[in-house]
Amino acid sequence: MKIVRAQNGVIFIKSKLIPCTHGFATRVGGVSRAKHTASLNLAFGRGNDEATVLRNLKLFGEAAGFDPCRVISLRQVHSPNILAVSAADRGLGYYTPSDLCCDGYVTADPQVTLGIKTADCVPILLCALDNSGRPAVAAALHAGWRGTLTGIAANGVNAMVSLGARPGQIFAAIGPAIGQCCFEIDTGLRDEFFTALGAEICSRCFRPSETNPGKWYADLKGLNAHLLISCGIPPGNIDISNSCTCCNPALFYSHRRDREMRGTMLSVINLTA
Ligand SMILES: [Zn+2]
Repeated sequence: MKIVRAQNGVIFIKSKLIPCTHGFATRVGGVSRAKHTASLNLAFGRGNDEATVLRNLKLFGEAAGFDPCRVISLRQVHSPNILAVSAADRGLGYYTPSDLCCDGYVTADPQVTLGIKTADCVPILLCALDNSGRPAVAAALHAGWRGTLTGIAANGVNAMVSLGARPGQIFAAIGPAIGQCCFEIDTGLRDEFFTALGAEICSRCFRPSETNPGKWYADLKGLNAHLLISCGIPPGNIDISNSCTCCNPALFYSHRRDREMRGTMLSVINLTA
């Protein structure tokens, strides 16, 4: 992963493995002025008016090279469900109000840009190449602990395969999210992960707390990487951000750190090379 400092002041993160337009926004470079949303808040309902959020989306689009009017990003509800979208869906969420909820998108259409909103949850961007090596199928996933537990990563890969992608030709970027350093859970939830995902995926992703008996530190990014590998994506095709959103208040919003007094980041992918 590399940090990009755009000319307009926006700072975002890219993966060298993803061969099409994409980016994970940080909180830097926007026009939100309230202390808790300063400054690149990209979600409605967090204390900024709509014009401010749309101005931020435009700035992020300028920086990362996507058209803000073509983004789809609906209300997220920690489901494992994936929606196949196309040009007809562009603008939903930001420019066209929608009651639909969705935590994952897949498309083969370069006319639509997929957007996932997070502030600790794991954003995952995927791109599959066709036989000529061109970007052909994209997906964007919202994997919080619930989405991770219910396997949204596997559902996302399956949805890409149903649009013609081959797992061996899928590249994945797991973006900035709460790190194992900060994500403490109890034994009951750890057990749920082992039951749902199996020991092979879970065995290296939980570390016992040294100070709080019965508590564990969970590696959500690692769990999702193992899920992607179990779907046939080669380990070398997976790029994982080492940034912890909770540890870096200057660069990222974090729900666990700031609760409701926070903004929200956006991660996008579009099939244009
Ligand atoms: Zn941390």
